[in-house]
Order: sequence, then structure tokens, then C-alpha cells
Amino acid sequence: MNVKNLEEILNRNRSYTNQGETANYIPELAYANPQQLGITVCTPRGEVISVGDCEVEFTMQSISKVVNLIVAVLDNGPEQVFSKVGMESSGEPFNSVAELETKAENKPLNPLINAGAIAVSSMIKGRDVEEQFQRVCTFLSKITGKENITLNERIYESEKLTGDRNRSLAYFMKSTGVIDTNVEEALDLYFRLCSISVTCSDLAKIGLFLSTGGKIQGEILHKNMPKAVQIALSIMLTAGLYNESGETMMKAGIPAKSGVSGGIMAAPPNEMGIGIIGPAINSKGNSAAGVKILEDLSSEYNLHVFKKK
Ligand code: GLN
Repeated sequence: MNVKNLEEILNRNRSYTNQGETANYIPELAYANPQQLGITVCTPRGEVISVGDCEVEFTMQSISKVVNLIVAVLDNGPEQVFSKVGMESSGEPFNSVAELETKAENKPLNPLINAGAIAVSSMIKGRDVEEQFQRVCTFLSKITGKENITLNERIYESEKLTGDRNRSLAYFMKSTGVIDTNVEEALDLYFRLCSISVTCSDLAKIGLFLSTGGKIQGEILHKNMPKAVQIALSIMLTAGLYNESGETMMKAGIPAKSGVSGGIMAAPPNEMGIGIIGPAINSKGNSAAGVKILEDLSSEYNLHVFKKK
């Protein structure tokens, strides 16, 4: 792998940025530059290669759902978490309301759709939202090696102000007992996590952490970390790109998670961590150019999980 190679992949897919638009249902997200495009790759040998617009910060959005899930699994154990949230992929949009009522026990289908992630947020341990948020940030800080994990206040306020759909999901889950703590606090934590600022290289480092089975600088920090990471990777593979997960699994075959700010974090097992940014998103809420770049990286570096190595 080298810079030229990655630049070639980036340029080859640049025109796909015109096939998407920045998210506007969270008004502040609409201000992102739809032409922005960047890739960072981190390898277990310590190489970090960035090409394109990698220095621009953006918010994690749904990519935070993966970190949220791992902390909740470490806090409660997988049985407790999955007594409230399912393990199945969903053919519906990430913020579907109808699906929640029609599925068994009214459980959200998986932890990577909005309903599932809000339910998972309600399970993070801490005295209050601030402590819960700081615990997730401390974990992120260890993974990325970044001392200060910060929240983008403008996006956070915008999310809170316009998050009625997420509120409806949360209150419905309260009514069915999926959420048995304070709903507003679970929502507040969810909005804060979605609003965490990152760069492409932070995403690549999260990817590398997952790809290496949960190691941070060669060390496993919690005895249940490998299990929690295995769970996260499995759900990323089947549900990480919402109702585009099947297609991505077939074409790229890499556990990955997208967010509506246009980020994609990917973790081909034992290979590398990948961070992609391209704020123009397609109708499924995934970076239009980002999904194409992921496919190209997969074929270029032989990363499909089912490809014979
Ligand atoms: N904050 C966004 C929301 O709740 C996250 C969704 C996403 O990234 N797909 O709608």
C-alpha cells in the first residue's frame, strides 16, 4: 500500500460525490462541503497513510453507535444488552418508526439503527449523562490516542432541536419497557455521542482497534474486550450500512459503519483500520463516494472476508 495507490482510488471515485447530498434533516450537517473526500488507512505495523481532505473534522454520527455498543457490552454483558436489542439486520431506513412496533417484543432490530443505539445508550453506566458521556470519551481517547475528545456544540444543539423522530422512537421504547431509565437522559447521551468531532484518521484508528480484536498498543484492556469487539464486528458486517448492508457485504465484504455526516469506519479483520469521509450521502444515508471507495479498497487489497487469502 502506498500514497499513490490510495490517491488513485480516491480520484477514481471522486465523481460519485455528485451522486449524493449533505444530510439536511439535521440542519447544521447541511453546511459540510459535499466535495470533500478523504481516506486514512492505519496498519498494525504502525503505518498511517492519509490522502485527500483528511484534516477536516466532522461528527461521528452513527459511527459512535459501535463504541456505544462496546461500552454497554463491557458494562452489562452481552445477555443483558441483547435482551433489549436484537441482532438482525434491517431492510428499513435507520430511523424507521414503523419497524419498531411490528417486530417481536417491540425490540429494535439491532444496536446500529437509531432505536437500537438509543436503547443501548440507556444501558451505559454512570451517575448522570455527563459521567456516561465521559466514560465513552475516555474509551475513545484510549483507542485514538487523542487526549481531548470534544463535542461539536453546534451540531449537538441542532440534533437536540430537531431530534423529534429519535424522541418518538425513545418514548415508544419506554412504553414497551425496552428503556427502563430516564428517556430524556438516554436521548441526551445519544445526541452527544453522535456529535463527537473526529477526523478520518481517528476513524481509521477505531477501525484498527477493531481489526486487531480490541488491542490498544498491543494490549487487551478488559478481559471481555475480544468478545465485545467480535460482537461489534459481526453486527457491523450485517447491519453497519443500514439498508445498504447486504450490498456492501457482498461487494466490499468488510465490517464497516457509516454515519450521516459522510464518515465510514471500516475494520477488515487482522488487516488494517480504514477511515473515509465524503459528506455527500446517498438515499440510504451512506457516503455516496465512500461506499465506492470501500469496494475499491477491498478489491485492491484483497480485504473481502470471504476471499481466499
Ligand atoms: N444523529 C443521527 C440521527 O440520529 C445519526 C444517524 C446516522 O448517522 N445515520 O439521526
